[in-house]
Amino acid sequence: MKAQDIKALLDEPACAHNTHKPKGGCTRPKPGATAGGCAFDGAQIALLPVADVAHIVHGPIACAGNTWDNRGTRSSGGPDLFRLGMTTDLTEQDVIMGRSEKRLFHAIRQAVEAHRPPAVFVYNTCVTALIGDDVDAVCKAAQERFGVPVVHVDAAGFYGSKNLGNRIAGETMVKKVVGTREPDPIPASATRPGIRVHQVNLIAEYNIAGEFWHVLPLFDELGLRILCTLSGDARFHQIQSMHRGQANMLVCSKAMINVARKLEERYGTPWFEGSFYGVQDMSQALRDFARLIDDPDLTRRTEDLIAREESRIHAALEPWRDRLRGKRVLLYTGGVKSWSVVSALQDLGMTVVATGTRKSTDADKARIRQLMGEDAVMIEDGSPANLLRIYEETRADMLIAGGRNLYTALKARMPFLDINQEREHAYAGYEGMLELARQLAITLESPIWPRVREPAPWDADGMPATSEVR
Ligand code: SF4
Repeated sequence: MKAQDIKALLDEPACAHNTHKPKGGCTRPKPGATAGGCAFDGAQIALLPVADVAHIVHGPIACAGNTWDNRGTRSSGGPDLFRLGMTTDLTEQDVIMGRSEKRLFHAIRQAVEAHRPPAVFVYNTCVTALIGDDVDAVCKAAQERFGVPVVHVDAAGFYGSKNLGNRIAGETMVKKVVGTREPDPIPASATRPGIRVHQVNLIAEYNIAGEFWHVLPLFDELGLRILCTLSGDARFHQIQSMHRGQANMLVCSKAMINVARKLEERYGTPWFEGSFYGVQDMSQALRDFARLIDDPDLTRRTEDLIAREESRIHAALEPWRDRLRGKRVLLYTGGVKSWSVVSALQDLGMTVVATGTRKSTDADKARIRQLMGEDAVMIEDGSPANLLRIYEETRADMLIAGGRNLYTALKARMPFLDINQEREHAYAGYEGMLELARQLAITLESPIWPRVREPAPWDADGMPATSEVR
C-alpha cells in the first residue's frame, strides 16, 4: 500500500478525531500505554468473522497466532470456514530462497480445492511487505487460475495501528468487493401482505457472543432486510451486494467510518451512527432507520414496535432494577462506546461514577457529559494503578471493563464484569438488557466478595499477619 493511501485513510473527514484539530488522524499511543494490535491484526479482526471465506495469513506462523479467533464472534449454521486458521507459515528458508510467492499460490490452491470457498482473503504481513512480495500479482494469477475471487488485504503490521488496519479492511471491501453482485431476490417467506421490504446494512457489527440475534427478529418484523452485517455472521455474497442498501448503520464504532462515508459517496446511501446497547439506544437505532428510509408506514410500525418492546422490557427489568438501583459503577470500555453503556447502566438505575474516554471524540465526550452531568469523571489513563485509585476515590461498587483489566480487579477484590469483545454474554437489544442486568446482579451479589475481604483466619485470631511473618 502506498504511503499516500495510508495518509488518506488516517485523514478520514467523517471522523470527529480529525475536525478542529491541527493534526489529523488517530491518536498515537503514549510511552507506557498499551499500543494495541498492529494494522494486520486490525484488518483480520475486522474481516475474520466473514464466515464462508478462506482467510489466509501470508507470513510467519506467529502473525496468524496473533489474531486468529480472539473474539467471541458467532456465525449461524452453515459455513464456519473462518474458524480454520490458514497461513503460508513462512520460514527464514522461504525468505532466503525467494519461495514465499510460490507458497502463497499453493496455499490458495489448497484452500480452494479443500474447501471450495466463495472467495479467498489474503492478508499481507510485515515480512512479506518488507521482502517485496507482489501479493497483488499472485492473487490475480490465482483468481484467474482457480476461478474464485482472491482479495488481497494489504495491511502489513508496520503500516500503523489496529484502527488503521480496520480501515484498510473496510476500504478493501468497498474498493474490491462491494457492488460486484446483486442481492438474492427477497424470499417469499420473508414477504407479508401490505408490508414493503426495505434493504439495509450494518457496518462494524461483530455479533459478539451472538448478541445481534437478539436484535434480528425486530428487523424481520419491521420488514427491514439486512443485506449485510460487515462483518459479524456475514457471507461473501452479502458484502458484494451492500451497494443496494437504502440506509446504513455504523454500529457504535469509528473503526469503519470510512466504509459508511464511501458507500454514501459512491451509492448515495445515507447512514447514521448508533448502538444496540440499552433500551433508549436500541429504540433510537430503529427510529433512525425509519427516519432515513422515510416510509410513513414503516415509521408508524416502528413506533408501535418500540412502544410494545419498551413496555415489555421495562416490566421484565423491574425486579433487577430493585437489586441494582444506586450501585456505583466504574466503567472503562476504552472509550468509544462509553456513552452507550452509560445510558444502559442508567436505565437500570445505577450510577456511573467515572468512564473511560481515551478513544472518544469530542462528540462522544459531549454525549457522556449530557448523560452524566458536567462534572463527569473521564478517564484518559487506563493504567491499573489509576483505575484502582479512581475506584477507591469514587467509592465504586464494581468495575466494568475489558478482559485485560480482569486480574487488576480480582487482585483488588472488586466485582468485575467484562464488557469488551472477548465476553461470553450477549448484551445487545432489549433482550440483551435483561442479560446485562442478570450478569451485573450475579457479579455484585456473588458471596465470594465478603469472603475474600475478610481477614484470613490466621490473621484474625491473634496470630501474626502474613506480611509480618515474612
Ligand atoms: S507487527 Fe508484523 S510481524 Fe507482528 S503480528 Fe503484525 S504483521 Fe505480524
